[in-house]
Amino acid sequence: MDDNRTQGRIMIIGAGGVAAVATHKCAQVPEVFPEIMVASRTLSKCEALREDIRQRYGREIEIAQVDADNVPQLAALIRKFRPTLVLNLALPYQDLHIMDACLETGVHYIDTANYEPLDVAHFEYSWQWAYQEKFRQKGLMALLGSGFDPGVTNVFAAYAQKHLFDEIHFLDILDCNAGSHGHAFATNFNPEINIREVTQVVRHWKDGAWVESPAIIEPGSVHFDFDYPIAGIKDSYLLYHEELESLALNIKGLKRARFWMTFSENYLNHLRVLMNVGMTRIDEVDYEGRKIVPIKFLKALLPEPSSLGTNYSGKTVIGNIMTGIKDGKTITRYIYNICDHEEAFKETGTQAIAYTTGVPAMIGAMMMMTGAWQGSGVFNIEQLDPDKFMDALNTYGLPWQIVEHPGLPEKV
Ligand code: NDP
Repeated sequence: MDDNRTQGRIMIIGAGGVAAVATHKCAQVPEVFPEIMVASRTLSKCEALREDIRQRYGREIEIAQVDADNVPQLAALIRKFRPTLVLNLALPYQDLHIMDACLETGVHYIDTANYEPLDVAHFEYSWQWAYQEKFRQKGLMALLGSGFDPGVTNVFAAYAQKHLFDEIHFLDILDCNAGSHGHAFATNFNPEINIREVTQVVRHWKDGAWVESPAIIEPGSVHFDFDYPIAGIKDSYLLYHEELESLALNIKGLKRARFWMTFSENYLNHLRVLMNVGMTRIDEVDYEGRKIVPIKFLKALLPEPSSLGTNYSGKTVIGNIMTGIKDGKTITRYIYNICDHEEAFKETGTQAIAYTTGVPAMIGAMMMMTGAWQGSGVFNIEQLDPDKFMDALNTYGLPWQIVEHPGLPEKV
């Protein structure tokens, strides 16, 4: 253990839906996380979380106000609290600043979403992978993408590569939210990031190159009906998702990798209108002599994702269908988790999307805190041994199953 760190102390940055779940889950495991700090931009949200943790578990956590984009301010807070690691559950815009503060203070880093610059909606790891040498030289570990997707879906692939296949050739990640929150339109995680993600050009990996197709709301978008366990048949759209980039590198022999997400006609219609009228723009526009960014204004109008749990019912079903070779035979396996919105709300006060992200964020932190995962440098989660993480999913609320399943064809 580095002298600048104290074992068992975790600093969670952000106090939104995902951070709330991760804080709950850390608070449930005092033997791994005896000291917790939640530091975020708005102190009142940290206070509310501290009170909830006090009520539910009788535990005291520390809180602090911090602007994570202000590296000296964040570094000073890290020096004061002396965490073993910083769990970044703020927004992708903060990733590099938080990594800088970790390097400066000598603590490990973990997040759930890749860095994004404010001015372009571009989901890629290049900016964070460029930190490889810096983390290596300091003997520190940066773990990228420890949510559900990216996160658990990567670990599912690593587990399949280790235990189920000699070689995986085709990977389809299917993300289904069959829940209903009762709002005309809302996003399940930060609206800005969600809308930037779903309106980008779609890409999938095929034979060593990226193939582009129309965005989900454009004519010609690729979608098909998939029959999900328990949730039933749902229209599922081809979408670019950041884990494809690292999986295409780290799962050897992969010939095709795709990501699918379910969207209702209602969601797509709202999104179409919002896009058509310019409300999803990420550049500044003049409004009565002031500059505003339309998507930020839209975020202010939409329900807070962390508040959606109250009336949310239904389930999420997220998993991987993988086809490959085992002992000379072609086989297909489907690994998935089912999570219930109401159960998630009962346990943590938030819905299943935040739950399915916050639980693996805690588990990733647990892997690092206990030394199960160690290393110097920047790692995508599938580069680490999946076994203990997979066990922990079963223990901490996200049980998974493996079934035989027909492979998905090239043309769906
Ligand atoms: P929220 O918007 O609910 O929460 C973000 C939190 O970060 C807020 O509390 C916000 O503060 C805080 N924050 C923003 N900027 C700063 C800053 N400069 N300094 C300090 N705190 C800041 O988002 P979610 O909880 O829905 O999502 C959190 C992260 O999880 C996002 O990066 C998202 O992309 C990722 N995610 C990953 C998934 C996965 O499966 N891998 C799935 C879903 C989400 P304030 O309260 O003042 O706004």
